[in-house]
Amino acid sequence: MIRKPLALVIAISLFAAASVAQAQWRDILNKVDANKDKLKKGAKVATAATHEFSEEEETDIGRIVAARILATYPLSSSEKLQKYVTLVGNTVAAYSPRPALDWHFSVLDSTVVNAFSTPGGYIFVTTGALTEMHSEAELAAVLGHEIAHTTQKHILAEIKRNNVTAAGLDLAQSTASSASWLNDDMARKIGQTAYEKLFTTGLSRQDELEADRLGLGFATDAGYRASAVVGFLESLGKLSREGNGSVRQFTATHPSADDRIAALRPAVSRAERGELLAERWDEWTR
Ligand SMILES: [Zn+2]
Repeated sequence: MIRKPLALVIAISLFAAASVAQAQWRDILNKVDANKDKLKKGAKVATAATHEFSEEEETDIGRIVAARILATYPLSSSEKLQKYVTLVGNTVAAYSPRPALDWHFSVLDSTVVNAFSTPGGYIFVTTGALTEMHSEAELAAVLGHEIAHTTQKHILAEIKRNNVTAAGLDLAQSTASSASWLNDDMARKIGQTAYEKLFTTGLSRQDELEADRLGLGFATDAGYRASAVVGFLESLGKLSREGNGSVRQFTATHPSADDRIAALRPAVSRAERGELLAERWDEWTR
């Protein structure tokens, strides 16, 4: 992969980027509604448990999950923050195994400290989480973790596991093939499964630690000092021990900060290289 100096690439992009988060999301959510209108038959995905979702299907699922997330927390109205997180996220995603996926990065306005990802590459981080960070490198590592959940299809695997019954019913009831593979019932079930995993029960410990390890790698490859994420995890661990309500959901859905730091140790012990970019962080998040 071609390496340009990372700091330079982003500095240029910050001025070139023109996407407006609110308008972008209006388009994405309109597609969810448009899809629902034509959703009737589910024959194509009847064997959801073993079905390999196409990228298009994965994106359809991602939009449904994103709609659930956006029904829970509003988008931040700060265009500056949206732009910054988008550029850092796209930089890290370029070093993931799926650089060509249509990634979307958004900031949610909530004091709850968390970050979320969906199939198809919709990634969210809360303003509460940003408050606990002190450098662009920490943000890059956190986004890298979420990117890894998408590239490893962790949520998609849970959706497959939980949609066997609904898909079986669809097969029995369907009469013809249709390009539109999602019906209302499946869409609802997908949204519910993802919501539970993201907000209540969490993914498996194994998935979380894999996302930590891979995400750290993507951010490091992109040129960041991703080991800085240890500082972020330590802050969250401290808030959790203090019983701070802002990390309750995070604590319930992730392995403990100490466990995650311990698991990351082999990777971070040799990670003094890379850019921290604390000054640029201050400039863009003030
Ligand atoms: Zn995670």
